[in-house]
Amino acid sequence: MGHHPEVSTASTLRGRSVAPPVRVGATTVHGLLVDEQTRCEHYHGPLDVIALQFACCGRWYPCHLCHEQLAGHDARRWPTLQRDVEAVLCGVCGSLLRIDAYLEVSACPTCASGFNPGCRLHHDLYFD
Ligand SMILES: [Zn+2]
Ligand SMILES: [Zn+2]
Ligand SMILES: [Zn+2]
Repeated sequence: MGHHPEVSTASTLRGRSVAPPVRVGATTVHGLLVDEQTRCEHYHGPLDVIALQFACCGRWYPCHLCHEQLAGHDARRWPTLQRDVEAVLCGVCGSLLRIDAYLEVSACPTCASGFNPGCRLHHDLYFD
């Protein structure tokens, strides 16, 4: 009698300011993340499983929009001369790829997870 079931609030993490980083393997990824494989609020299809390290701050984000909304500074692209930097993270297995290696594959060399071919359309946002 008079015992109401508790009303659960589903909107606890709704606020945009709440963006706890996610840890994938040994890498901490910042961003408006929606899952543990670095899909983010902007790109969350089945193949959107990579995160990138940004040359400007050295931090990892799932996409340029996450960086733009959270970093508070302009993104800097990786210069052509630094294509040997391991700046790409596979969100599925946590392994790191060199930029030049990433640009040549359509799936993770370690776990074979497919990468979104649509990302190629905006490689120029990340790499010179
Ligand atoms: Zn930055
Ligand atoms: Zn994003
Ligand atoms: Zn992988």
